[in-house]
Formats: sequence, C-alpha cells, structure tokens
Amino acid sequence: MALLTRLDGKKKIKLKDFDTDDNGGLKREEGEAMTLKLEAELTALQELLSAAQQTPVLIVLQGMDTSGKDGTVRHVMGAWNPQGCDVASFKIPTPVEAAHDFLWRVHAQAPMKGSISIFNRSHYEDVLVVRVHKLVEEAVWQRRYDRINEFERLLADAGVVIMKFFLHISKEEQEERLLDREKDSVKSWKLSPADWREREHWEDYQAAYEDVLNKCSTPYAPWYVVPANRKWYRDAAISQTIVETLNPFKKDWLKRLEEVGATAREALAEMRANVPATSNPSKKK
Ligand code: AMP
Ligand code: MG
Repeated sequence: MALLTRLDGKKKIKLKDFDTDDNGGLKREEGEAMTLKLEAELTALQELLSAAQQTPVLIVLQGMDTSGKDGTVRHVMGAWNPQGCDVASFKIPTPVEAAHDFLWRVHAQAPMKGSISIFNRSHYEDVLVVRVHKLVEEAVWQRRYDRINEFERLLADAGVVIMKFFLHISKEEQEERLLDREKDSVKSWKLSPADWREREHWEDYQAAYEDVLNKCSTPYAPWYVVPANRKWYRDAAISQTIVETLNPFKKDWLKRLEEVGATAREALAEMRANVPATSNPSKKK
C-alpha cells in the first residue's frame, strides 16, 4: 500500500485535511522494519542508476523549520554511494545570486544523467519566505508559479525524474522540537531567534504551502505531503515513494548495462585477437 498520495494537480487539496500524526496504520516497529528493507532497495537502485548513466533524479525537500529536512537527507543518502548523489542547500541568496533571476542558482544544481540531486529547500522559497515576508511585490511572486512549472517541465523533458516532498508537521510538534534543541548542547547550534519569529507567521506559511501544492503539482513533477510528526513514518513513506518511483526504470537500466557490457567485451576480444601475449591471457605460456 502506498503511504503517500501523489499530487499531480488534478484535484485541489487543503492542508488541514492531511493529518501530521498519520502513521498509515503501522506500528513503529513495522514502519522501521519496512524502512530497513527499503534502504536495501534504495542502495541497489542507485547502483544501477549510477552505472547506467541514463536518468537524472531530483528530490526536493521543503518544510517548516525542524520539519526534518536534514534528517531526511541523512537517512535517504545513507543508503547511497556518495559518488552518485549531491545535496544542494538553498539559503538566503548571496548578492550575486540575488542579482540574477530566481532560477539561476537552482538550474546550476540540476542533476546530470546517472546522478541524484537532493534540494534541501529550493526554488520554492521564492514563493514561500519571499511571499510571507513580502520581499518582492505580489505581482512578482505570483508570476513565479508558472515559471516554476515551466522550469520543471524543461527538466522533465531532459529526462529528469522529479519528486517533491513537503514535510508536514504541526505547530505543537515544532515547538517541542525547538525546545528539545535548546536542551541538547550538541543540537543547539541549529537554533536561531528567527525560528521563533517565523512561528508567528505559521498560518501565512501554511497558506503559501497550500498554494504551492495546488499550483505546482504536475504529472511530471508531483508533490507528496509527508505526515512528518513521526520521524520513523516520514522515513518509511519517503523511502517507499522513491523506491516505487525508480523501480519502473530498472528494466531500462539493466538493458543499457547489458549493451554497454557487450560492447566492452567485444572491444576486449578484438584487442586480444590483434595483440600478443602481455594483454592476452589466452596466449600466455
Ligand atoms: P536553514 O535551512 O535553516 O539553513 O535556513 C536557510 C534560510 O534561508 C531559511 O530561513 C530560508 O527561508 C532562507 N532562504 C532560502 N532561500 C531563500 C530565498 N530565495 N529568499 C530568501 N530567503 C531564502
Ligand atoms: Mg533553520
């Protein structure tokens, strides 16, 4: 059973209809066992993806402070060979970034064939924090939903497989997590007074996220709302979605590897037919 609903833009959603505590009817131990199995599948899939060099993959993570973006990066990438994936964290734009169009810095981080890019925050900040804090005029951010859809279509046309996850936590859960960070001397570095100030805009952010989910969910770049109050459920649900999205490509990747392997074997056979001893085990005495 799919733990997450794929939003492809056909039906409008309301965020309040999504329960941040949802556990998909699973017990914690069941969810953890499921995640363990999925991790093995994630590892195997990435190995093939990386070897076949055919498909770029983009994973976008968005959510309020403490919603678990960093934890998800740690968890999902833990299953992967670091040589085949990248994380791009989008912060307040630098002066150079801010002097370009809002997609300039984002496009530069798009994945290439055979590799996976995870966006920890993304181009969506330009219709979230920018909207909530009125950093540009409304007419400017309103136009960006269309630009974002076009940009993602451009990537999809180039073969990029796109998955976008909104980590959905409750305001109460965020308060607990912020207070926990304050108590934990090793985690306090993540805190900033801005986290508490941002909380005052909670409802504005929820409205901005709802618009993102309704305006920028497409068949080629779907959003998934991840009930994220329970970290174990978040990990199981995201792992399952990635595995199920990538599984259909496996056949193509294997076919490609067989073709490339056959060409390599032919090249070796040809070389051995034409050169003597040193490179040719069958001619060695
Ligand atoms: P963190 O993810 O905690 O390291 O914080 C990064 C900060 O950068 C967040 O407060 C984001 O809202 C902010 N940020 C990211 N992208 C943009 C953007 N395009 N414009 C303004 N602020 C941004
Ligand atoms: Mg932060």
